Amino acid sequence: MLVSSGTCDYRGAFFMTNPLISIGQLLNKPQGTTDRHRNISIEAKFDDVPEINPIAPIVFDLDVIKLSHEFTAYIKNLTCECTFVCSRCLVPFVTPLIIAEASRQYIYDLPTEDIPNDEEVFHIQKGASVIDIRPFLREEIVLHFPDFPVCSDSCKGLCSACGINLNLSECTCKKGSANNPFSALKL
Ligand SMILES: [Zn+2]
Ligand SMILES: [Zn+2]
Repeated sequence: MLVSSGTCDYRGAFFMTNPLISIGQLLNKPQGTTDRHRNISIEAKFDDVPEINPIAPIVFDLDVIKLSHEFTAYIKNLTCECTFVCSRCLVPFVTPLIIAEASRQYIYDLPTEDIPNDEEVFHIQKGASVIDIRPFLREEIVLHFPDFPVCSDSCKGLCSACGINLNLSECTCKKGSANNPFSALKL
């Protein structure tokens, strides 16, 4: 593999049909040249992030900009299908996750001693002609996970007394009791 991940986190094992973005065309272009990729579609499986649907592709636009000793990758309009467990009714549901914009800098062609020793710094090995954006995608998607996913704004959740799923059936427990410790917890 031509690409070094720098200090990228490779905890996740993954599979993508088209994971590598070529920078070969950009290498000899002037600074500021932008390579535009539209509607990239990648099938991804991140073993440590089961929320990301491995069947539905991750779709996004990507601009790669050549700068001095650096390539900047801009992701735009990313959509991927994710499976979350509803925080009200505890039933898994599939929903699209959308990321409007994200970017990452990849340092290129600097002597090793000049590369900042920083976890947030990523670099491309000298001579490489591709950027592996898998760790970038994985981290951005995880960052955008909702804290309290809900299957629907109208999800009625579980009865706090008997635990029944109120979307599916009703129960005879008293509703709206002021003593209900969960009544204030409606998400
Ligand atoms: Zn729900
Ligand atoms: Zn009940």
